[in-house]
Amino acid sequence: MNSLLVRFFLFSLVIAACSIAVTAWLASQATTGTIRQEQGEALETDAQIFDEVVKYAATHEDWSRAKSEMDRIARQHNRRIALADHNGKKFLDTGDANSPQLPITPKAIVDPLNVNGKIDPRAVGPFKLTDEEYDKLHAYARELSACNPHIKIVDAPNGRPRLSNDQPGNLSVWEECQVGYRLYTLTATEQAAYDQLQRLFDGCLANLPTSPQTATKLPGLRTFDWEITTVRDSPPEVGACMESARRTQLEPYVADQAQLYLTPLTGEEPRPIDLSTTGVTRITVVALGILALAGFASWITATQLVRPIRALTAATKRTAEGDRTARVDGGAGEIGELAKSFNAMSEKLAETERQRQAMVSDVAHELRTPLGNITGWLEAAQDGLAEPDPHLIGMLLEESLLLQRLVDDLHDLAQADAGTLRLHPEPIALDDVVDQVVNAQQNREILLRAETAPVHVTADPVRLRQALGNLVANAVRYTPPGGEVVVKLFEDQDNAVLEVTDTGTGIAQDDLPHVFDRFWRADKSRSRTTGGSGLGLAITRHLVEAHGGTVSVTSTLGEGSTFRVELPLDR
Ligand code: ADP
Repeated sequence: MNSLLVRFFLFSLVIAACSIAVTAWLASQATTGTIRQEQGEALETDAQIFDEVVKYAATHEDWSRAKSEMDRIARQHNRRIALADHNGKKFLDTGDANSPQLPITPKAIVDPLNVNGKIDPRAVGPFKLTDEEYDKLHAYARELSACNPHIKIVDAPNGRPRLSNDQPGNLSVWEECQVGYRLYTLTATEQAAYDQLQRLFDGCLANLPTSPQTATKLPGLRTFDWEITTVRDSPPEVGACMESARRTQLEPYVADQAQLYLTPLTGEEPRPIDLSTTGVTRITVVALGILALAGFASWITATQLVRPIRALTAATKRTAEGDRTARVDGGAGEIGELAKSFNAMSEKLAETERQRQAMVSDVAHELRTPLGNITGWLEAAQDGLAEPDPHLIGMLLEESLLLQRLVDDLHDLAQADAGTLRLHPEPIALDDVVDQVVNAQQNREILLRAETAPVHVTADPVRLRQALGNLVANAVRYTPPGGEVVVKLFEDQDNAVLEVTDTGTGIAQDDLPHVFDRFWRADKSRSRTTGGSGLGLAITRHLVEAHGGTVSVTSTLGEGSTFRVELPLDR
């Protein structure tokens, strides 16, 4: 989780997933909504057409004159209406000759005496009032309204005015307005129809196996219950008798059962569902919400990211201004790695700085002693305290040679540091180099000898002589008279090995890691008798490494030391 890459990746993934999910959800919501609405509209249209067709069937004895009415309905709803008898024979079609074939299954069965199991209330048959009765009853109704303006009067399907079902409760209409009694008296037409119904009902009841105890008299006669629901609440067989009686009575007055086909008009393309404007507000709001969320999350991530970068920038500035103590805590991840590298670089810089300062002070110190000596003797000579004899000149020369050597060593080291130390490698016999060095360093106090085998390498002979010369000079210098120094040369696997072993003072175990450091000396007094500048081994190491080799040391205090140089053999 700390990796910048992983964090970025996960972050983008989460944002993308959220966007996709919400977009998909919005799209599906909008589509289902629109489709549902379209379907609802279509269903509603079909239901309206069906209702109007049923109404026609309920109020007409047959379909013979239905064409013009059906054409009107079809036009109004933009549909083609076709009717067929129960054998599937088409007897009415609002479509023309070009209209395609009708579907196999009809949309619905039109039967006013069985609309979802019920008789359509608009089928009134013999109950329909004559015009005369209609006028008379409506005159009463107007009187009743005039008597009590709160009364709401509606027409029953047969034309009779009656109190609306949603009448404000507890109306004492009859006491106030006597005309109510007249309104609620059956007309001759109704009386005859109810009588006929009563007969049919009785006939049915008589055929029942057990004669029911209740409701043998039509309640509608008293309550003007148009659909005669009271009987239907009686035992089921009584209700069934009433239904069949009513159907028998109404049958001659309604049109025959028919199959209804509804299809879109010819040539009219099904209306394409237009989603372009669906839920624009909702989509906008959600899109803005996601944008805000993504922005917020990006802001948080960005600030977290930028914090260590800012810290790094500040630390870099401080370092550039010379402060070597600037360190950054960058946490984990890529920025953490960068912070760690920066800290390491800072430490290295501080260390280099420290070494540079030590170096300058060491160089000053090294130069001071011989220069001080030279100045001292020259002043003494000037003051006449010392004779400028050959002995004095010899001493002065010795000091200036010391200075010369020091400056040469420093020059070599500076070149090594700058990477400009030039080598001139050539194939050489290493045993010759050893012999030359050993011969050059011979003296009477110490037994110095070489044990060599013929070994050939490609190397710069001058530089190798310098390196080996330093080691042998040290061995001789730190070995008391009577001691022995042996220089061995042999091959070991892929390397030529040079070992300089002495029986001298040895080096303390703690000092061993420092012997190759610049200006390091075991004897801190830096007396001229015990040695040189303290740069010899540092230069040797540089020279050996420049040849691709290594130099190491083992030593026991008081017993002697062995310096070992390994150089790669020619292959
Ligand atoms: P220097 O010019 O002082 O000899 P070097 O870099 O050659 O400087 O050696 C560094 C120090 O290592 C010496 O001052 C000495 O203390 C120690 N040293 C080097 N070679 C030997 C040796 N063969 N035996 C004991 N001490 C040694």
